[in-house]
Formats: sequence, structure tokens, C-alpha cells
Amino acid sequence: MKYGESGIKYALRNSMKFYLGTKYPNWMREKEFEDVPLFVSHRTLLKYKKLHPSLTSWSLDSGGFSELTLYNEWRTSPGEYIKAIRRYQDEIGKLDWAAPQDWMCEPFMNEKTGKSVEEHQRLTVENYLELKYRAEDLPIIPVIQGWSLDDYLRCVDMFLKAGIDLEEYETVGIGSVCRRQGTGEAENIVYRLKPLRLHGFGMKTTAVHRFGYLLASSDSMAWSFSGRMRPDPECPKKQCTDCRHYALSWRENILNPKIPNLFNQLVGCQ
Ligand SMILES: [Zn+2]
Repeated sequence: MKYGESGIKYALRNSMKFYLGTKYPNWMREKEFEDVPLFVSHRTLLKYKKLHPSLTSWSLDSGGFSELTLYNEWRTSPGEYIKAIRRYQDEIGKLDWAAPQDWMCEPFMNEKTGKSVEEHQRLTVENYLELKYRAEDLPIIPVIQGWSLDDYLRCVDMFLKAGIDLEEYETVGIGSVCRRQGTGEAENIVYRLKPLRLHGFGMKTTAVHRFGYLLASSDSMAWSFSGRMRPDPECPKKQCTDCRHYALSWRENILNPKIPNLFNQLVGCQ
């Protein structure tokens, strides 16, 4: 399963839709981002009383990672979340899809909630069913959660038992896949889940380059971390954590890797 430089470029440019993660919803209405799909969290948007129409397509992160990390549970009710999605769809528009209120399965997250991986998966499936039952018209996607390959396969079965054949869906999110040591295992999991049309949440640069060709779409805010650690020396700010120029050139580089050999040497989600 080796792709040369041109293969990676072809796969990234022509098949995977890449959403640039941002904490700045105003980017959605700016010309500079007209052709840049964005990924914005519900936790960011809910602070805004006034929203504006978007020029670009975008998808909504439910903010589950932050919410579970903060409270060890979902405090936002499905009803509140549905109301918020409807508002974003009406007032901002161009919403490709919204993530459900899923339960991540990183070992530290299960430790925090005191629940098993299987329990997180059950809650994830149940939440999707509830959201879809209560708001069938909204573009909410199913998400599979897990940690080991067997976990993810079990989650696909859980959906099937609930009457949902994920193969029929245009987008299926895959969570927790990039928060592990090596990208090799993550790549194997994603490979084994074909032919699902997967969206990889919170991808790291190395993971996008290694197995982006297997994904229908992905999102990342890794530019912000990178902008803090390796800022543009010509930028008047000391760090590029919040700089749009940095976010855009980082995105360009992820879609057109300038030093592909370097990426082949890197191991791990970094
Ligand atoms: Zn900067």
C-alpha cells in the first residue's frame, strides 16, 4: 500500500475533502476562505449572539472532546444541540454536516468517565438514533468510535443491529483514531473499514499524509499548534497560533506536500 508523491497529491487533491479547523467563525464569511472548507465547533459558535452567512462550505464539530474532558459527560442535551444545529443551518448556511454527540474512546477518556469502550460506543449509537429521530431533516452524520480494530468493527455492527447500514451513508465519522502512538495502526484500522466513506476527526499532519488517500474527508487544527512551535519568522507576532496566513499556507502544504520524503520518515501522529 505505497503511494508515491504524485499518488499522494492526486489522492489528496481529488478525493479527500479537507476541512481547516478554526476557532474564528468570521473566517466563514471572508473572501480569502471562499474555497477553503472550514471545521467549526459548536462550543465556539454557541458564544455568538449574531451569526453571518458563510461563503464557504463547512462542517460542525459537536465539541465532544472538550465537553467530556471538562465534565466527564455530555451536559448539552440532544434537544439543545438540535436547536443549535438548526440555527447554524438557517443563519450561517452551507453546512455540509454536523457531528453527533459521540463518546470518544481514548483510554484516558474512559478513565475519566468510568465507562467501558463498549458503553461509550452504545451511547454514541444511541445518541445518533435520538438525534436522527428528533431531527431527521438535519445533516447529522453517524460516527464510529473505538480503540482497537475489533472495537471499531463492533461499533459498525452496533449500527447495523440498530437498522443502520453505514455503507449506505455518504459520510461516516471515525473518532479517536489519531490519538495513538503510531499512525501504522490507525492506517490499518481505516483500511479495514473500507468501503465506508470515512471522515477522520482531528487528524495530525503525518496521518493525513500517510492515509489521507483512504479517507473521504478529514479535519485538522494542527496548524495552530504548529504555528506556536514553528512560527513564520517574518510574522510580526511571536507566535502564529491564531494567524490566518499561517493556517492557509499550512493547509496548502498539507494538500501539496513540499517535502514528501520527510513525511515518509516520520512515525506517529504529531
Ligand atoms: Zn503569524
